[in-house]
Amino acid sequence: MAAVTRAAQVQTNLAAVEARIVAACQAAGRARAEVTLIGVTKTWPASDVAILRDLGVVDVAENRDQEAADKVTQVDGVHWHFVGAVQTNKATSVASYADVVHAVDRVRLVRALGSGAQKAGRLVRVLIQVSLDGDPARGGAAPPDVPALAEQVARTAGLDLGGLMAVAPLAQDAGRSFARLAAFSAQLRATHPTASWISAGMSSDLEAAVQNGATHLRVGTAILGVRPPLRR
Ligand SMILES: *Cc1c(COP(=O)(O)O)cnc(C)c1O
Repeated sequence: MAAVTRAAQVQTNLAAVEARIVAACQAAGRARAEVTLIGVTKTWPASDVAILRDLGVVDVAENRDQEAADKVTQVDGVHWHFVGAVQTNKATSVASYADVVHAVDRVRLVRALGSGAQKAGRLVRVLIQVSLDGDPARGGAAPPDVPALAEQVARTAGLDLGGLMAVAPLAQDAGRSFARLAAFSAQLRATHPTASWISAGMSSDLEAAVQNGATHLRVGTAILGVRPPLRR
């Protein structure tokens, strides 16, 4: 009974998010098929991942290695995205299950993910996180460092350069932030035409992301509800 209720609740929330995406695509003159919705399932149980999958959301994201590694063993039939900061010593683990790692921002991490992917015999898609507010504490590579990092990913066996990712800085207009990200993406594609993914937009700013060319939206709260507080 509780499970049925949860599935119904998620279905209702998902329909509302889907309507927002469709409207944003229409407003931007883009096809809905250009945008992939990733359900951010961090802190929620593996059963929620299964609910999303059964509702057609086959891309899901986690941000902590231990929690993700645990869920991966419980649910199949989804693509696993890792959207959190990756500690270098967790790179081997993350590379063993993640299909896409979104927040790559330094050369050491590129090397560690590459060796982990090779060890696991996998190809891991990597997005370079771009810092849009110049605050290194919040993660992301400074824009001038992105081209060299992209070269490094492209040259690393086991990794596939997918594109860019960013989180809009709180203090700035999301639309302007995502417009900057789109410009960085255009620069990157000039030398790496297949690195076309732009991971941007969350529950509160997905419209601004779609307006500015995002190909992947990372949405948690609007689909699954307000997360329970993190236990550390
Ligand atoms: C948690 C998280 C999200 C989802 O944010 P919501 O506001 O819950 O939609 C997106 N991206 C990253 C990197 C996250 O850590």
